Amino acid sequence: MKTQIEIQRIEKSKIDSVDFSNLPFGSVYSDHMLECNFKDGAWQKPVIKPFTSISLDPSAKIFHYGQSIFEGMKAYKDDAKNILLFRPTDNWKRFNKSAERLMIPKIPEEIFMEGLKALLRVDSEWIPRNPGSSLYVRPFMFATGTGFHASPADEYKFIIATAPSGAYFAGKVNVLIEEKYARAANGGVGFAKAGGNYAAQFYPTQLAIEKGYNQVIWTDDNTHQFIEEAGAMNIFVRINDTLITSPTSDRILDGITRKSILQIAEDEGIQTEVRKISVGEVVEAAKDGNLLEMFGAGTAAVISPISSFGYQENDFDLPVLENSFASKLKKKITDIQTNKASDPYGWRVIV
Ligand SMILES: *Cc1c(COP(=O)(O)O)cnc(C)c1O
Repeated sequence: MKTQIEIQRIEKSKIDSVDFSNLPFGSVYSDHMLECNFKDGAWQKPVIKPFTSISLDPSAKIFHYGQSIFEGMKAYKDDAKNILLFRPTDNWKRFNKSAERLMIPKIPEEIFMEGLKALLRVDSEWIPRNPGSSLYVRPFMFATGTGFHASPADEYKFIIATAPSGAYFAGKVNVLIEEKYARAANGGVGFAKAGGNYAAQFYPTQLAIEKGYNQVIWTDDNTHQFIEEAGAMNIFVRINDTLITSPTSDRILDGITRKSILQIAEDEGIQTEVRKISVGEVVEAAKDGNLLEMFGAGTAAVISPISSFGYQENDFDLPVLENSFASKLKKKITDIQTNKASDPYGWRVIV
């Protein structure tokens, strides 16, 4: 089946008003968005139209019961001006896993992929080409169906919006290992990119910020003895020369960056382990000088190195390394994403 997409072009592009050398993350939007509505039990015709506000009924269920999911991905342009995506089918699959858990209808692959590609072609000039820059792509879907009764809505809206974004420099990242709050629980929705997961992170994160940290390292909800994620990123720990990350579960999001890093690290001859990581072993390794690196992994920053962490009343600094696994792996993965290196994995997709 070939998806028919209606295209309504903007009268005058906003692109000349944008300073591409000074782009904040995710707050400047390109000219168009893709919209597709679910109604009467079926997905309607997708439309590409000017990026604009949407009007909803006050009883729309998104406002009351939080049926809302999203994805995060990036588009790049190589020297030959090809538009490139990185493992986009994985985003589509994960989007539908999130949808299923939130009782939101699944989006067909054709609408997601053909809609995404058509949108990128229409807004192709918005894909930045300076190193480290990309077009951040945000597919999302939420309940527009109405009613104050707590039940799944009967109507939904799927949107893909995009935002040109510059290179991401986090500076020094000081994190706090969380001992009270939890991001996710067994049987819950932690594995899904459900909007409410992030709403629930803001308060504990704000408490950590007030104590002088930048971000929270989430631990398991039951014992708080095992580290699980770094903010809204997966976490990696390097003890001596072994790179360790937690196994995915109900509570841990199955990150595309995480699994790509694991694959590349193994092929680079770096010893990897996927297993539970106890807070005790991280603290011991830090004390013994064997904790060489910690970093978060996710689409936005790719790899975000952690410079120190706090646990109970103590702070521990990580060493500054010349040739860190973080910088080596970040270069490898971004070179594949931007077509500066060959892609033996078939991850890169030309639009
Ligand atoms: C999106 C996300 C990640 C990273 O996933 P990627 O596919 O690598 O972008 C990790 N943890 C959480 C909680 C997330 O929401």
